[in-house]
Amino acid sequence: MRKLDSKIPDGPLADKWNNYKAGLRLVNPANKKKLEIIVVGSGLAGASAASALGELGYKVKVFCFQDSPRRAHSVAAQGGINAAKNYKNDNDSVYRLFYDMIKGGDYRAREANVYRAAEVSNQVIDHFTALGVPFARDYGGTLDTRSFGGVQVSRTFYAKGVTGQQCLLGTYSSLTRQVAKGSVKMYPRRDMLNLVIVQGKARGIITRNLVSGEIERHSAHAVVLATGGYGTVYYLSTLGLGSNASAAWTAFKKGALFANPSFIQIHPTSIPVLNDYQSKLTLM
Ligand SMILES: Cc1cc2nc3c(=O)[nH]c(=O)nc-3n(C[C@H](O)[C@H](O)[C@H](O)COP(=O)(O)OP(=O)(O)OC[C@H]3O[C@@H](n4cnc5c(N)ncnc54)[C@H](O)[C@@H]3O)c2cc1C
Repeated sequence: MRKLDSKIPDGPLADKWNNYKAGLRLVNPANKKKLEIIVVGSGLAGASAASALGELGYKVKVFCFQDSPRRAHSVAAQGGINAAKNYKNDNDSVYRLFYDMIKGGDYRAREANVYRAAEVSNQVIDHFTALGVPFARDYGGTLDTRSFGGVQVSRTFYAKGVTGQQCLLGTYSSLTRQVAKGSVKMYPRRDMLNLVIVQGKARGIITRNLVSGEIERHSAHAVVLATGGYGTVYYLSTLGLGSNASAAWTAFKKGALFANPSFIQIHPTSIPVLNDYQSKLTLM
């Protein structure tokens, strides 16, 4: 069995990723336009990554199997996004959010990465607000929050019960702006069939054009896989049938390591109703 090295940087928990970022080698702005990046997936992860990379000046190609990035499965997310902004002044903090996430992960998640997620949570809300996502606001005009997931503070930023849809529309408009500027090229209705490895590095993908049936090849300096969840490997799942791990599986076959397959979201909405005592509609 191979040991998975998650390459978490050294140092005290709260500083690990900040120190790592401070030491990263920079790419000369003049060189960015010479570097091509393939992003597979145009959900919240892929579309955000692609539009940010395009904005930075890289040449980006984005692939998805749907006819539009707006139909990525992110559209289904409902409840909201947790962030440690402490707007309700109920003593929330980055540490409290970190601690709640560690508990939520049954103490099995990697602490440094969870800390980083808690730390950047506030920027995520700022980012989506800047993209125009209409998060709920209270009567004073500031962003509203609600309390989610059994935590003792109110830190969930939401847009009614359609947070994912609204975030995806915001991300999509930012992606479309980059497409119009020419920094991002969109390839919808493409199914990634294989990953191309050159001297140990991912340098391209093979796709099937789902309209013409043609097999196509695309090369780049780097490949980002943002291909979403793999819920349908389980019989019961809230995820749509398209979330079938096909891209992750090709990467695995080419030597990528795959960890924690049991960390998958199952919503109460996917549990079949057995009798009248069971709630028929559960909103998360
Ligand atoms: C019902 C529901 C409620 C949720 N509620 C919340 C919530 O309240 N808060 C929260 O934070 N999260 C929530 N989530 C989870 C959240 O929605 C997801 O974790 C997130 O949206 C995943 O985004 P993604 O970009 O990684 O994947 P996706 O949006 O699934 O995008 C995957 C992309 O990869 C592409 N792709 C996949 N395979 C291939 C292939 N072989 N070839 C080409 N393209 C491919 C697809 O076309 C798509 O564009 C919820 C999820 C569900 C289902």
